[in-house]
Amino acid sequence: MGRGGYHSSRAEFLSDEAILKYNRNGGCFVTTKKAIAFVIFALASLLAVVLLMYYYGPNRGEQKVIKESNDIEKLINDTLNENVPKEEWRLPNTLYPLRYTLKIHPILDEYSDKNFTFTGRVKILVKCLEETNRIVLNWDDLNITDSDVRVYTIKQVRIDSEAVPEHPGKAKRDLNAVEDDATTTTISTEEVPTTELFEETTTGTEPPDTTTAPVLETTTESSLIKTELIPWLVREITRDEENFKITIHTRKNLKVGENYTVDIKFSGQLLNNLVGLYKSHYVDLTGRTKWLATTHFQPIYARRVFPCFDEPKFKAPFKISIARRTNMTALSNMPLKQTEPMNETSGWVWDHFEETPPMSTYIVAFTVSDFESISSESTTAGPVVKIWAPKDDLSQAHYALDVTHELLPFLEEYFDIKYPLPKLDMLAIPNFGKGAMENWGLMKSSLLFDPNSRSIKTKSFIMARIVHELAHQWFGNLVTMEWWSDLWLNEGFGTFMAEVAITKLRPRWHAYSSVKIRDTYNTLYFDTLKSTRSIQTDIENNAQIEQIFDTIIYQKGSSILKMLNYTLSESIFIRGIQHYLKKYSYQSSTQDDLWALFTKTAQNQSIIPNTVTVKALMNSWSTQPGYPYITAMRNYSGAEVVINQTKMTEDTNITTDALWYVPVTYMTKNNDQVRITWLEDQRRTVLQLNTTANDSWLLLNIDETGFYRVNYDTRNWKLLVQQLRRDPGRIPVANRGQLIDDAFQLANAGIINYTIAFDLVKYLHITEPNYIPWYSALRNMEELRVIISNYEYSGLYDNFLLKLVKPMFHELTTTERQHDTQNEKLLRLHIVTSACKLRYGPCIDWARVQYYEWIRQPDPDERNPISVDYRFIVQCSAIKSGGPIEWDFLWNRTLSPSIAPVDLQTAYLSLGCTYDPWLINRYLEYSLSGNISLEYVPYVWQSINHPVGVRTGFQFLRLNWERIYDTYEDIYLVFSTIFHDFVSQLSTEVDLEDLTTFYKLHQTDLKSVSTILQGTVDRMKIRIKWKTKHLESVVNWLKRNKY
Ligand SMILES: [Zn+2]
Repeated sequence: MGRGGYHSSRAEFLSDEAILKYNRNGGCFVTTKKAIAFVIFALASLLAVVLLMYYYGPNRGEQKVIKESNDIEKLINDTLNENVPKEEWRLPNTLYPLRYTLKIHPILDEYSDKNFTFTGRVKILVKCLEETNRIVLNWDDLNITDSDVRVYTIKQVRIDSEAVPEHPGKAKRDLNAVEDDATTTTISTEEVPTTELFEETTTGTEPPDTTTAPVLETTTESSLIKTELIPWLVREITRDEENFKITIHTRKNLKVGENYTVDIKFSGQLLNNLVGLYKSHYVDLTGRTKWLATTHFQPIYARRVFPCFDEPKFKAPFKISIARRTNMTALSNMPLKQTEPMNETSGWVWDHFEETPPMSTYIVAFTVSDFESISSESTTAGPVVKIWAPKDDLSQAHYALDVTHELLPFLEEYFDIKYPLPKLDMLAIPNFGKGAMENWGLMKSSLLFDPNSRSIKTKSFIMARIVHELAHQWFGNLVTMEWWSDLWLNEGFGTFMAEVAITKLRPRWHAYSSVKIRDTYNTLYFDTLKSTRSIQTDIENNAQIEQIFDTIIYQKGSSILKMLNYTLSESIFIRGIQHYLKKYSYQSSTQDDLWALFTKTAQNQSIIPNTVTVKALMNSWSTQPGYPYITAMRNYSGAEVVINQTKMTEDTNITTDALWYVPVTYMTKNNDQVRITWLEDQRRTVLQLNTTANDSWLLLNIDETGFYRVNYDTRNWKLLVQQLRRDPGRIPVANRGQLIDDAFQLANAGIINYTIAFDLVKYLHITEPNYIPWYSALRNMEELRVIISNYEYSGLYDNFLLKLVKPMFHELTTTERQHDTQNEKLLRLHIVTSACKLRYGPCIDWARVQYYEWIRQPDPDERNPISVDYRFIVQCSAIKSGGPIEWDFLWNRTLSPSIAPVDLQTAYLSLGCTYDPWLINRYLEYSLSGNISLEYVPYVWQSINHPVGVRTGFQFLRLNWERIYDTYEDIYLVFSTIFHDFVSQLSTEVDLEDLTTFYKLHQTDLKSVSTILQGTVDRMKIRIKWKTKHLESVVNWLKRNKY
């Protein structure tokens, strides 16, 4: 999956992924679940009463507060430790799927009693690898009647043309019935009914084209072959809802080496829950609602649509058939092979698609919609590329089409493998506002771009998404990780490739590299939290699979691949990747397989020291949580520098033995040639500089290619500050940003004094022309602002920030100039955003003028005079400084069917900027009552990220918990955003106490977000500690410096 989001709110980094959770409201298990829910509710209520009595009783003291706060960490850990043993939740290795034949009939019938359902039938040809009498498949919330489950073997018997049938006495029988007699019965294929969902063919016994999976025996003389089905009797069928498994127990054991067909009919609901096979809709320009059915299977939702081996290593070819009305279009991974009328139902047809190569279940996809497509003639032979979108939006699909045509040959050359499928469809799903999905041959993303908007931000964002998902067509789809514990390889690589492709193909977009640098700051921050984990991670239960699609996997994965690319050299890195993809095509692999090939490729190249292997180097980064900070202590009387590594933690009291293989790059003021020295799994090394000049600074981690922070002795920090004030250009721009980020984070951890960090940023308004260092500084200072806003020093601190920003605000102004560079555009946007957030008068006045110009438009839905990139800050400022009139105007715009997805997202992020508690309450109520599309609800919670919003929102959350839980419990996208992005804005002891009480009351409800809550609690604790550790000294510094 890809990560989206390009908004300037901090939330952009946190929740872009469309990580979606199953909806368990449908299906036939509602009764049981509701019953369980009721019991849990009753127990929770009882607990609530007890707690309330305890809490508000006469004996409650301050000690209690502290104890409660400490409790939450333990409570969350207890929840997380309730793991299901591995053997019970994973699939056994007794069987391997050889081929799926899948037929699905989705019904999108809003007219006749709102019938949104689907029926289907799957036949899975499996090979038995170990003798067993259990066929275990993944399954979730599908209705399956026991009598619709069959198992049989197919025997092919050589006959001559005059032979009589072997079993002439057998009557025709319904193969859907489970055989009751214990004897093996042979039935000829001619007797199988063909008018059902399936027609029987003998092709099920053909071998897969290319696979390392067990292969069937073949026969070529089909004219002399008779196919017979031999039922394998089913003793019973058991279901394990907790682990999403259905087990077919056979009377006799399946034999090693034999092939069997598992044939299951099923049905399910098309819900608006964004996972599995779900319904979605859009409103066309005439105001009509149009429905579509579409899929999202990653990571564990294929099992909601058909029973299957839903783990990535079980790769098999798929023959997919989809039923549709004649006025709709069906799409799947492969091109359409044949359309066949549905005999019994007029107006409906079956679309049969070509068979896929062997692939994992999570990238299977299909869609039924009335979308139309554009395509263009490619100059080179390659796959047919089409972009599909609602008819009215097609004019905005050309950018994505052009970019894809440009990227395909680039990636084919990079991987040295042609795009593996004959076609590539890309769907612009309406309201698929977050993330993207790399389904093989049928990618999904929000990729519409209005060429009139001229927003390079949006352009680079769409391009990055397309590169990411396209890269997965090879890295992920062609070669797949064996298990989700190696997910970081897929996602890290997709993210890394976006940077590579954009740097190569759009060298003038410095913007993208800055996005990467911003992501790095963010990842370094999250990887310092106590609850962080290694990117290669054990997964103990299904809930964890959903929770691993996070910043750490994507960004740290990408960062350490970038470090390897830089360390090995690009040419060797590319060769290693090519070897890997060729060797493991159509198979699955592990990270060790990749490291082994890199080691082989890098051998005898003298790139890394003989004592370092790629595996040891990369394992130190991928299997350990966190990262080190490198300390350089210089001996100014000589040329020696002692280089030391220590694990970076937010709490210096925590000591660890963790060590990394660190390529330490460096340069000095007197010698700007980049050199490298290594810390090879060792604490310390000594570096000899070739300068002893006392005024020559030393700089480490050049261009921030290494995933670590750097600390210096105080004198070197001062030399660097002097350089920045005099001529920042001598220090690479990425390092200028890094120096600031490192200084703030080292100060926060108590490793250096805040004075160094504040002294460092004071150069910005004097000499810094680049966006990156500004971004780094404002990001760090904004985080401190969140904490300080709880105390009486907020005004003092805001003065300091404003003094920094004001000169640049007036220099750049709010007007875009014709010859602005990309850097100037970004810097202006960022400075204006900061100034308005600080409620700087001239900025607010400008925003209100802009907003009122929009309000005055006769057709505001058709014409918005505000420049696209400035819409958020203008809308946010106008709403914050205005009242219901400003709020209602924007809200009404969100109701227009013609609003572009990007504007809708911006509007939702802006509506939460109001400081009126009643407007915030009404906004949250709108979102909870279904007035906002589910995909956009996360933006509502992200938008209320200011002091008034956080207090009001947290109160709303507690007052309306039962409704919130009922509405979003299975919509992980919303649920996770609330607890990751919103709740983490809380930052005082009292907040933590309240959160603990809330957690205790709803512990069971919150199980699916326990991992997320761990990080949220860590962040709250850092802020609480910050107050004790640093508030006084920072306030003193501000006062001393007369702010
Ligand atoms: Zn991805």
